[in-house]
Amino acid sequence: MKKLAFAFCLTLSGLAKDVAQAQAQSGKLHIPDIPGYRTLKCDFHMHTVFSDGHVWPTFRVHEAVRDGLDVIAITEHIDYEGFPDEIRKDYNKSYQLAQEAARGKDLLVISGVEISPRVPPYHHNALFVSDANALPADYMKSGKKEFVMKEDMTRAELMAPFLAAQKQEAFVFYNHPGWGWWDGKDTTLFTPFHQELLDRGILKGVEVANSGNYNVIAHRLAMEHGLTMISNSDEHYDVFPRYRDGHRPMTLVFAEEKTAEGVRKALLERRTAAFFDNYLVARQQEAEALFKASVHASLEKQQRKKEPRLLVKLYNESDIPFRVSVKSEYDLEGHPLGQVTLNPRDTAELVLRAVWETPRETLLEIEVTNILVSPEEALKTRFVLRSED
Ligand SMILES: [Zn+2]
Ligand SMILES: [Zn+2]
Repeated sequence: MKKLAFAFCLTLSGLAKDVAQAQAQSGKLHIPDIPGYRTLKCDFHMHTVFSDGHVWPTFRVHEAVRDGLDVIAITEHIDYEGFPDEIRKDYNKSYQLAQEAARGKDLLVISGVEISPRVPPYHHNALFVSDANALPADYMKSGKKEFVMKEDMTRAELMAPFLAAQKQEAFVFYNHPGWGWWDGKDTTLFTPFHQELLDRGILKGVEVANSGNYNVIAHRLAMEHGLTMISNSDEHYDVFPRYRDGHRPMTLVFAEEKTAEGVRKALLERRTAAFFDNYLVARQQEAEALFKASVHASLEKQQRKKEPRLLVKLYNESDIPFRVSVKSEYDLEGHPLGQVTLNPRDTAELVLRAVWETPRETLLEIEVTNILVSPEEALKTRFVLRSED
């Protein structure tokens, strides 16, 4: 009978996990708001048949709604047409079609384009453009089903789309630095061209992760130059197959409101977290706020015969699993080095032993090894816990 009850319990907890997993796999991740701000799930980089993608803009909307995203930008290459015979060149069109398709849905579509020369400064996205067709790509010889730059292109031609983007008050960020490494290019990722973009107040952000791949050099650039940290899918096909076992990459934007202006303000104020492959990359303030909004800690006194103990419960309300290393002045039963995984929508219970003089409060120091606050450091935070009685 005892065995049966035990088996039943196992089945039940297995079931609870399956539900959490199913919810996570449905793509609609729960990621809580932080004090003062809404947490918006955003993807600011994707393509359609209007440049070199292979889906129609309405499909991007369908995917984003299915995946529970709050904000997307479709960012066609201003210098490439994949289907010039079938589709008339118009880099505003995918935004217009997506916006139309998102009407009445809980998805905000913002405008954007990708400026993509194969020489410095390489690829950048410009968000919030008012007219994508006004960004010149005169450095190209041909962008129709092929990508051929002029041999005698000038620096002014390369700078021109950035100046046009600035005129439109766009938010510009550096895409996938190091993308040309496969052919031995882009070995210097921050060039004099980038310095000029920074000095002119044009360059504001960088993808520290692109299509789920983290780039430590991009992370260093973000920290060194005060750039907003971004993570996007850069999808050209359908998002799902690539991330079927996990979650699609996204940028978490901590905004005062879910409007284009709210997103713009948050990006300018660098209130983001790059989220990919169950890692978060953020600045200390946002990283700590998000972890504390996700994980709720409580303390209970326990007695096992003559042994006083403390039971710590760490409930993770989010769909992000956190890998933590917990330090306490007491013995953490069964957790060498205090290593614990805080599973999504689950409670981890830690028993503190050798608690001979039961305190009213105790300190837990926590390192969250899948939240990076710099290229070298994981988030460190603490909980001061008081027992309820
Ligand atoms: Zn690109
Ligand atoms: Zn792209």
